[in-house]
Amino acid sequence: MTRQLLYCTILAIAFPTCFAITIQPRSSWNAVAARSPARISGKVDYVIIHHSDNPNGCNTPADCKRLIKNIQSDHKGRRKFSDIGYNFIIAGDNNIYEGRGFGLQGSHAPNYNRNSIGIVFIGNFENTTPSQTMLQNAKDLMAHAVQQGYLKDNYTLLGHRQTKATACPGQKLYDEIKTWPHWKSI
Ligand SMILES: [Zn+2]
Repeated sequence: MTRQLLYCTILAIAFPTCFAITIQPRSSWNAVAARSPARISGKVDYVIIHHSDNPNGCNTPADCKRLIKNIQSDHKGRRKFSDIGYNFIIAGDNNIYEGRGFGLQGSHAPNYNRNSIGIVFIGNFENTTPSQTMLQNAKDLMAHAVQQGYLKDNYTLLGHRQTKATACPGQKLYDEIKTWPHWKSI
């Protein structure tokens, strides 16, 4: 346990909003620079959950970083986005990776990009559920976003399929997030 996390765990008795999470920076997956994505000021209303649809996901940092790099290449190259479309990435090596990060508009859910944080789980979650660690990492990331002032405390959690006709984020992952307190039917 890191010193910061230990400190936070002790403090959490008195200050339950104390979260210490580690987000692996863009440099960790060798990101290329973004083409100036639009900024978002203030707190957003939504979190949109995606899966990356990589059939076997990834279990090691080397594999996860390679897949994330591939997603950036696809989004920035073929799809002409300014950068990887998602704000954050939840990976099977139990790391949380920075995509665009906080305060920048993503390209992941038209009509919601300007007012949301896009989180992608690496893998295909149609028939399998992400690991408990991956799920907890996503929950911790959202709590961190609220604590840091990037996400409203009464935010709404949606699956990508609620915003357009897509199978994303996979049936099993969608079934899971429907049990989380901020999920809403729209
Ligand atoms: Zn999606």
